[in-house]
Amino acid sequence: MDFELKEEHKLLVEMTRNFTDNELIPIAPEIDAKEIFPKENLKKMAELGLMAMTVPEDYGGSGMDTVSFALAMMEVGRGCASTAVTMSVTNMVAEGIFRFGNEEQRKKYIPPIATGEYAAASFALTEPWAGSDAGAIKTTAIRDGDYYIINGEKVFITSGAYAGVIMVAAVTDKSKGKHGISVFLVEQDTPGLTIGKAEEKMGQRGSNTVSLVFEDCRVPAENLLGQEGDGFKIMLADLDGGRIGIGSLACGVMKACLEESIKYSKGRVQFGKPIAEFQAIQWMIADMATDLEAAKNMVLRAAWLKDQGVRFTQAASMAKLFATEAANRAAYKAVQIHGGYGYTREFPVERFYRDVRVTTLYEGTSEIQRIVIARNILGKL
Ligand SMILES: Cc1cc2nc3c(=O)[nH]c(=O)nc-3n(C[C@H](O)[C@H](O)[C@H](O)COP(=O)(O)OP(=O)(O)OC[C@H]3O[C@@H](n4cnc5c(N)ncnc54)[C@H](O)[C@@H]3O)c2cc1C
Repeated sequence: MDFELKEEHKLLVEMTRNFTDNELIPIAPEIDAKEIFPKENLKKMAELGLMAMTVPEDYGGSGMDTVSFALAMMEVGRGCASTAVTMSVTNMVAEGIFRFGNEEQRKKYIPPIATGEYAAASFALTEPWAGSDAGAIKTTAIRDGDYYIINGEKVFITSGAYAGVIMVAAVTDKSKGKHGISVFLVEQDTPGLTIGKAEEKMGQRGSNTVSLVFEDCRVPAENLLGQEGDGFKIMLADLDGGRIGIGSLACGVMKACLEESIKYSKGRVQFGKPIAEFQAIQWMIADMATDLEAAKNMVLRAAWLKDQGVRFTQAASMAKLFATEAANRAAYKAVQIHGGYGYTREFPVERFYRDVRVTTLYEGTSEIQRIVIARNILGKL
């Protein structure tokens, strides 16, 4: 057992940390306030190799391991959760195309994701009637010669208005239930695909969240990812990796909460001394630091298991569950430590509090993570 990071990991953390400090933190408040999609920074991140991190270099990716992806996500999440979620989903799609795609699909779609030619990539599963119950999707894809014709509606799609390519789940055979779902790679400008209005969100306001409407959208048959009927399995398998990304993002925000709380509590004087000298404040800081340590270890272990090529579904769900709930606790405490000022936009903890809320909701709510974990422990009952 070795808790020491490898040299390549340390170098990656240093590079991402510098990028976060110099490029993300300065503009994060404006991105949030004005709901700006951070296109320029995403392009720079692609140039740094952060958008298709785990895809082999032969296919245009960075050829790094999942531990690297998690470490980079933690740094980006520390600076800007909006940018971090965009990075996480884009990496998840790049990896999905590599894992489940054929040679033509890999060669066509991964390089533009990796180089930043595409600002982002999207993963479209959720529908108005199918959130946690993702197997209940109604979007259909009917074969018509060399094409599939897609009809239906997706909601809450991260980066949907900016994605060069979208992984879309649709029903190809209704009689087979979940085994009748397939996945298609749909390009942004495909006729019949309309992008809805962006959601006005509580947090992560610089990330783009839209509905997608498919009306007789003709997608070439060669854009089927994997085999017909494998779609549900593909989307869930890809989400396992995505959960490591969201757990890492949560660790990043938690670290930012801790750093801001330490700084503030040492400077703020009440009753004639810095509030850091009060045990109540010390305990909150100790709890935040302990939660962060536990969350980081869980996320990195899930990433490491994935890199060993063994089953990591349960570890990824546990890491996502713990890290995102802990990050919400940390954001609550950070605002508490800042007192009334923590409730104003003068201090970033107000944004962290809003940004972190959604992490227990997307890519499977905390309740769904518990279902996944319990199922893995108890087996089918
Ligand atoms: C900002 C944002 C970005 C998103 N990005 C994407 C994206 O890129 N792609 C995509 O496909 N989706 C995306 N989503 C959708 C997200 O994954 C869903 O919102 C999430 O899966 C929950 O679905 P729901 O909102 O319909 O809630 P519901 O499924 O309606 O859940 C409501 C409540 O009921 C609970 N619940 C549901 N079923 C059970 C059960 N069996 N047992 C116990 N409790 C249960 C839930 O945990 C929750 O507390 C995004 C959502 C948001 C908010």
